[in-house]
Amino acid sequence: MKFPIALSAFLLLCTQSAIADDHKGPLTVMPVGKQLNVIYGQGGNIAVSHGKDGLYIIDDQFARLSGDIKKALGDIKTNKAEFVVSTHHHGDHTGGNENFANDGSHIIAHHNVHKRLEKKHGKNSKFLPVISFGDDMTLHFNNERANMKHYPHAHTDGDSVVFFTKANVIHMGDIYFNLGGLPFIDVDNGGSVDGIIDAVTDVLTYADDNTVIIPGHGKVTDTKALNEYLVLMNNAKALMLSAMKGNTSQGDVVAMKPLDVLKLNYSDWLSQERTTELFYRGLSVKPHH
Ligand SMILES: [Zn+2]
Repeated sequence: MKFPIALSAFLLLCTQSAIADDHKGPLTVMPVGKQLNVIYGQGGNIAVSHGKDGLYIIDDQFARLSGDIKKALGDIKTNKAEFVVSTHHHGDHTGGNENFANDGSHIIAHHNVHKRLEKKHGKNSKFLPVISFGDDMTLHFNNERANMKHYPHAHTDGDSVVFFTKANVIHMGDIYFNLGGLPFIDVDNGGSVDGIIDAVTDVLTYADDNTVIIPGHGKVTDTKALNEYLVLMNNAKALMLSAMKGNTSQGDVVAMKPLDVLKLNYSDWLSQERTTELFYRGLSVKPHH
């Protein structure tokens, strides 16, 4: 796909300032392709497809933001979203599901997202997908072919990546944190280190120099940055495995600070210690397909 020059420059800036943390301010809307926008807000990044058939979104952040999100959608095309695709079950990506469903949106997600949201919100909850799928599913809407592909045991056990094949834009969900460091791996909900590496490796086979990559968190970026993230994940895995040699205990590995040499950024909610613990546990389980 072709970008306007200004947008390319903007993306370049974004890549360079990827260290900045999540947006805390009001919503900001950014075009990322023909009939595609990204909304930055307070949770996971939202992708918006609009066109002749209407509008749908990928993820919907928190319930308290639904009004603002609908207003932003109205500015793009219409505040009615036909579909809401949930990339995984976490509340910062599905918090608005009930509000959108009450407005007539159809929630779509992997079977495991249905299972986990049902556990959290109850059987008849409007948070649950009304359409769930296994390996993959395609939306033929707005002259776009949006393929949702499930990646097992990555950030969770229910992650989908959305490929906007005509626009050449990919929404990674939380398989990709573009915050200058390592991702949160939700080991307690089926996530694993190898699952993230396998997923990113596979996604890269669909990407080219012009592909726009939307991370779950952080700025929109490109294939080069996603490649660097894969290298980082592999380096972190190698450092961890070497520290874990000979069945070293989790406590001992954390004390060794094996990730120190990577000199990464960490946040209050995801410290280096916690990251090391999650990588330790996330390397002890293999992604069984
Ligand atoms: Zn998440």
